[in-house]
Amino acid sequence: MYLPDFEYYQPNSLAEACRLMAKFGPRARILAGGTDLLHKMKHGQLEPEVIVSLNGLERLREITYQKGVGVVIGARATHNDIAGSALLQEKYRSVCEAAHHMANNQIRNVGTLGGNIVNAVPSADLPPILIALGASVKLAGSQGRRVLPLEEFFTGVHSSVIEPDEILTEVIIPDQPSTGSTYIRFGLRRSGALAVVGAAVAVTMEGETCREARIALGAAAPVPMRARQAEAVLKNQVITPDLLEEAGVCAARECSPRSSIRGSEEYRRDLVRVLTRRALQKAIKEGHV
Ligand SMILES: Cc1cc2nc3c(=O)[nH]c(=O)nc-3n(C[C@H](O)[C@H](O)[C@H](O)COP(=O)(O)OP(=O)(O)OC[C@H]3O[C@@H](n4cnc5c(N)ncnc54)[C@H](O)[C@@H]3O)c2cc1C
Repeated sequence: MYLPDFEYYQPNSLAEACRLMAKFGPRARILAGGTDLLHKMKHGQLEPEVIVSLNGLERLREITYQKGVGVVIGARATHNDIAGSALLQEKYRSVCEAAHHMANNQIRNVGTLGGNIVNAVPSADLPPILIALGASVKLAGSQGRRVLPLEEFFTGVHSSVIEPDEILTEVIIPDQPSTGSTYIRFGLRRSGALAVVGAAVAVTMEGETCREARIALGAAAPVPMRARQAEAVLKNQVITPDLLEEAGVCAARECSPRSSIRGSEEYRRDLVRVLTRRALQKAIKEGHV
């Protein structure tokens, strides 16, 4: 399996990368870690005439805290960069854990946050926890820059609002009141298997009362989805085991998974019920530490 011919550019600035993407438009593709793009090119599923690599843009790999903004993760940060970030370990351990448990070490070493999002695969592991934490994405293109909630980025399987000339540059996790968050995934193997379902939650607890809960599910619909009815079950309620089960049942009812080789629709719905309950239990417990 060989790669088809293409022109290759490795710009040293974001401005230059944007200029190239504006020039070549849909004929070009961004290359980040290449774990998905190169595979598709080798199998003839994608044949871009031009590749614009982000590998010269070191600043897009940074993970920083900006006062008044939040934690800013560059799109080129690899899954292992995220898993090992001291800043994220301190502020959002749940994001590190999500990155640590996906794929295998080789993929985590090169696969990036930007690729994980732009791919728009329903089973992707990072979008659910980032959505639960209220993250936004920053896009840069020929028309300038825009920031939008990650929740509004996805429009379907492999489709999103990103324009052909746009580059995802950052993911921003805003400062927030949430007291605990977690992401739990179920795969058919312990390592190297895509999530059959993933459940992420961020809760804001006040004593035993849940002031707010954000629940985001992966592989439970064509796009990562918020389980808003389940969230409403918990809002301003004293948490009991029965209430957590009710939230899980609600999430299972409102999701719309498909049947695939990895699991039937019914199986996935039941996983949503169980994983939502477990994720809530874990996040609430951690919020009390
Ligand atoms: C063996 C294997 C196991 C895997 N397991 C998992 C798993 O468990 N969980 C999971 O979520 N994923 C998994 N993946 C999928 C994949 O590794 C990830 O989604 C990865 O994050 C893709 O990132 P990348 O940098 O390699 O993207 P690339 O392959 O470089 O790019 C993917 C797509 O996104 C576009 N793109 C990339 N970055 C940008 C950007 N900044 N702006 C605009 N467009 C961009 C590219 O043009 C391309 O269309 C697995 C893949 C393999 C091969």
